[in-house]
This record gives sequence, structure tokens and C-alpha cells, in this order.
Amino acid sequence: METRRYRTSYEPISAITFYGSLQQIDFDGYRFLFDLEGRIKWIAPLKADLWPGPENYLRRTLGNKWLLYESDAYAGVYELTGRYYLPVPLAGPWSPWQDMRAGEKLSRLRNLLEEASQAYPVAGARQLNFLARQLAGILKGTVPVLPPDAIKAEYDLIPLFVSRGCMHNCSFCSVKAGGDLEIVSDNELKCQIKEMKSFLGADMANYNSVFLGQNDALAAGAARAAETASLAYDSFGIGSSIMQGTNLFLFGSVRSLLMHGLDDLLELDKIPYSKVFINLGLESFHENTLERLGKPLTSLEVLQAFDKGMELARRGRKLNVSFNFVIGKDLPNGHLQTMEKYLSSISLPPDRCTIYISPLQHEKWRPGELMRQVMHLKAKSRLRLHLYCIVPL
Ligand code: SF4
Repeated sequence: METRRYRTSYEPISAITFYGSLQQIDFDGYRFLFDLEGRIKWIAPLKADLWPGPENYLRRTLGNKWLLYESDAYAGVYELTGRYYLPVPLAGPWSPWQDMRAGEKLSRLRNLLEEASQAYPVAGARQLNFLARQLAGILKGTVPVLPPDAIKAEYDLIPLFVSRGCMHNCSFCSVKAGGDLEIVSDNELKCQIKEMKSFLGADMANYNSVFLGQNDALAAGAARAAETASLAYDSFGIGSSIMQGTNLFLFGSVRSLLMHGLDDLLELDKIPYSKVFINLGLESFHENTLERLGKPLTSLEVLQAFDKGMELARRGRKLNVSFNFVIGKDLPNGHLQTMEKYLSSISLPPDRCTIYISPLQHEKWRPGELMRQVMHLKAKSRLRLHLYCIVPL
């Protein structure tokens, strides 16, 4: 088994590539790449006629989910996602690029991996399942969705929960925890940090990013999120990661953003990370659409959160603020009209703001149809705009 240093920057290049220090084995036509604790991270075919085909790779997340990194889906993928591939979950959240037979095809590769685990010091299927349960035990929950900006660190991030659940519990949402919002205690946070260090072991060297979960870290308070992020920065030593730069990712919601003053939120601009990404689920500017989605907010609150998020990005030096909107075939006409109106009329669009468009999970779109809709909105928007299909950890 050979250890190799791959790219140390997450800046996009026009091919799928690997990152950090990985251990690798070439086995039966495939390259298997493991983290520094022997946990599979990538599977890449070495021959063009093997699934998932040339230039497409399989990626395992820390929570033991498999993603297909698909780079040959069609032209224009960079404009659509901001990377040169589409991350497609093989199970769980729906994506129009999902292959119904992927599970079957993956199971052959899992068998190969099992064989490799008998010959090399790497984790087999049972151990990987055990590790996923262990991670859920540390967090006392799962990460059903990652912020869309996490693609900028290739989903290589250390999760910590400062809160569980979210403030709104919208009825359309397929990733909500349900129940009441829970704020995690200081003691529990210290335990999470200690246990995550031991969970990642030697592979900690590959991490330069932290994700503060679960679905609404701002609800725990901006100051508390900033303190926890700083504590994690020091405890994990991510400033000395193999990877260049350091990132913090977190979700906020309309009300958790609005309950803070700008000065409080700017505490997140003072922490030692090079970039901080806050993602806010707005979904729609249109009152009837919010009602249809079961999002308990008024259009005025959404608009206020949009303006405040942009102001935050203007005032911060390292704060990046992104906004999620949904699209759906059965939503009221006013939804797209108001979105186009507001996105096209921003007078001073901040550089560090992005719009993400997500199709509703219960609807099925054809890839071309979805792409046309997103590209139409992209042409109207004065802010950078990309597609986001849900990616879990
Ligand atoms: S859309 Fe966001 S705020 Fe609404 S339930 Fe889902 S995670 Fe919570």
C-alpha cells in the first residue's frame, strides 16, 4: 500500500482529482484510495470500460454515504455547480442524475473492498458501518444535508453540532430533524471535540474545514458559534492541515439571522479561519409559495433576511453568505416572478454572495429540464447562482 500526497488546494481544476495525503491500492482494475486511518474515501476505475466510466469517480463521505462524482454528464457543468462535476448521492436524497442500478453496481465494488481489507490494513464493510454509527453517536444525530458551499472543500469537513434541529420545521423539508430546537451544552461540545479528534486520528492532518451543525447553528447564537469554531480551530490544529486555507461552514435560518444585530453576526468575521460560509434557507420571496411550502415566515421576513445577509457579506472580510431557493413544478407562478424580480434588481451585488437553487425533493425533473430552469434564473440573477441537489455527510 502506497501513501501519496495529492492536491493541497481545493481551488477547482477542470478534472476530478484527489486531495491531501491518501493511501492507495490498485486492485482488479480499480484504484482504491483510503484516508490515513485506512477508511475508503475514493474508488476510481483505471479502465474506461469499468463503471462508473472514465473521468467519473466514487466518493465515500465521513458518514459512510456514497457519492458519484460525475464529470461527463453534459457540457456546462461548471456553470451549473461551480465545479467540473456533479456530486450525485447513490442513495438517499434524490438527484435527476441518479442511476437506479447504482446500488447493484456499487455492491460489486464493496466486495472488492472486502477482499482488499483481508489483504491490507484497511476497514471492511462491517467496520465502516460501525464507524458511521460511532460518528452519529458522537454527534447524537446525523448530517442529512451539508451546506451547498461545502463543495468548495470537497465535503472534507469535521462536523460539530452546536444545536440540533432548526427553528422553522417547514413542512416541505425532507432534511429536518423535527421536534424542538435543542442547543448543545458547553460540556457536550467539549466532548464532541475530544471524540472527533480521536475518531479522525491520523487523518486529522487532511482536514482544514469545520461544519457547525446541525441545520441551524446560528440559532445557538452568533457569539457561541464563533467561540465554538475558534475552540475547534485550536483543538483540531486545522491551521496546520496539509490543505491550504481554512474554512468554517454553517447553516442559519431567516429568524436566527434576524434575531441578531449585524455587530453580533460580525463576530464570525473575527475568528481565525480564512473563509466563513453561512448558508440561509429562504426558499421563496412569495407569500403564497411560503404558505404552500409550509414555511412559517412572511415574505417581508424573507426579504429582510436577504438584505441583511447581503449587508453582512459587504461588511465582512471573510464572510460568504449564500441563500437557498427552491423550484417546483406546482408552485404558484408568483414564486419565479418575484425571485426574478429581486435577483435582477440588486443595486450593489456583493462578491461573496451566492444563490443556490434546489428542486423540491418529491418532484422528479429530467436533467435537461432542470438545467434549463437553473440557467434561466442564472441569466437573470445579479448574484452568482448555482444548482444544489442535497448532499448528506
Ligand atoms: S428548510 Fe431549513 S428551516 Fe425549514 S425545516 Fe428544513 S432545515 Fe429547517
